[in-house]
Amino acid sequence: RSLGMGRPPCSGRTDGSVANPCASSCLINGNSWARDIQDNLGLHKIGQYLQLWQIMQRTELSTTPDRLIWRWTASGTYSAQSCYTATFHGSTGCHSWKLIWKCWAPPRVKFFHWLANQDRCWTAERLARHGLQHYPRCLLCDQQPEMMRHLLLECP
Ligand SMILES: [Zn+2]
Repeated sequence: RSLGMGRPPCSGRTDGSVANPCASSCLINGNSWARDIQDNLGLHKIGQYLQLWQIMQRTELSTTPDRLIWRWTASGTYSAQSCYTATFHGSTGCHSWKLIWKCWAPPRVKFFHWLANQDRCWTAERLARHGLQHYPRCLLCDQQPEMMRHLLLECP
């Protein structure tokens, strides 16, 4: 069953009064985008439709040409620094390297753990990534691919 989305929520009440006087944003292409929604909509999609409707009501079109705005700087202009910072947006930092260098182990052990933490030891998986000759499986158990995680945590 079609929900008949062609009639916008602000177009008027059943008694003929207008609940929300349409702004110019409500008239974008005569609300043709809403008429295109014809499918059987689930609850989630109806929620999205209503959110979109609210956004469209706040949207005002102007005659000035569109321009790109970089959202990661206050000025809206792109910078490589802001792009680099944006790549870490939402990520959490891992400060395990501090534990490695502050422990009492000999320097060679600290260095090995530092390399292993960065996955930079020459395991078969790393050799394969660099296109170098390697044995495909772990030399200790001959069952799994040789990766740092396997060697340190999973190898029997
Ligand atoms: Zn193994």
